[in-house]
Amino acid sequence: MAQEKSPAGQASPVLSLEGKLALVTGAASGLGKRIAELFAQAGADIVIADLNQAAAQATADAIAQASGVKTMAVAMDVTDEGAVDGGFAQVEKELGPVDIMVSNAGIQIVAPIQDFKFSDWKKLLAVHLDGGFLTSRAAVRQMIASGKGGSVLFMGSVHSKEASRLKSPYVAAKHGLEGLAKVIAKEGAAHGIRANVICPGFVRTPLVEKQIPEQARELGITEEEVIKNVMLKDTVDGEFTTVDDVAQVALTFAAFPSNALNGQSLVVSHGWFMQ
Ligand code: NAD
Repeated sequence: MAQEKSPAGQASPVLSLEGKLALVTGAASGLGKRIAELFAQAGADIVIADLNQAAAQATADAIAQASGVKTMAVAMDVTDEGAVDGGFAQVEKELGPVDIMVSNAGIQIVAPIQDFKFSDWKKLLAVHLDGGFLTSRAAVRQMIASGKGGSVLFMGSVHSKEASRLKSPYVAAKHGLEGLAKVIAKEGAAHGIRANVICPGFVRTPLVEKQIPEQARELGITEEEVIKNVMLKDTVDGEFTTVDDVAQVALTFAAFPSNALNGQSLVVSHGWFMQ
């Protein structure tokens, strides 16, 4: 992508992240990985933070090679306060304070509510909500201290807006992230910090590939029926959203030239949910 610099706050015809440092959680796979790749193409230095250390390092190395930006891999369990705060401190020491933080790490566990194990409920909320809180708190602290402000992005879902069967903690957590983003938008305003939520429909990442047979089993239907009659049933065209679609939305939020776009959520789902 061609790069053009524009003075802060002024619109540019090209979305650029030149001079920015972006940390993306869960970026060793799926949506986070593609967001990190696109942010690097737009000129940002990149931190890949993930539970999977080997995959995080491989992703960071591949991005550095492809885009020529600085990259770093951090082994981080987003549910662990010490790991998150320690990881962010390590990043600041090596590359400086983060300008953009994408809280993307996530898991899925499906079961009807009457069978949902409390331990699974807590596990899922810990990754999505504790992780969202701990990583955004660490990022906001750096953004305030740097005096430069920044952009916080949460990976929501159509499930931030709508419910589906078998997903009680996931739907509860994704709705919760919208509230967290709105609070950060209000509290962050004085410091030039904005917060927004991306809400994708189904994307064929490892997280979704795993769910297809699980849902088929739970609902007593075939895998093809899960795709057609459950996952894509309410889209306007029966299409999956792609990692590229979601990364483009993330880039738009991250590169937006002012804090006018703040406290919002944007659904990218082939019309599954329309607001
Ligand atoms: P994925 O399984 O491909 O990637 C998730 C990544 O998160 C993995 O690299 C994993 O190692 C990492 N991770 C998991 N737990 C972690 C933890 N405790 N600490 C740090 N890293 C951890 O999944 P994906 O589909 O790319 O999902 C990414 C995000 O997008 C999730 O928040 C998910 O809920 C959301 N989302 C996905 C879809 C979809 O259809 N794939 C749709 C809407 C929202």
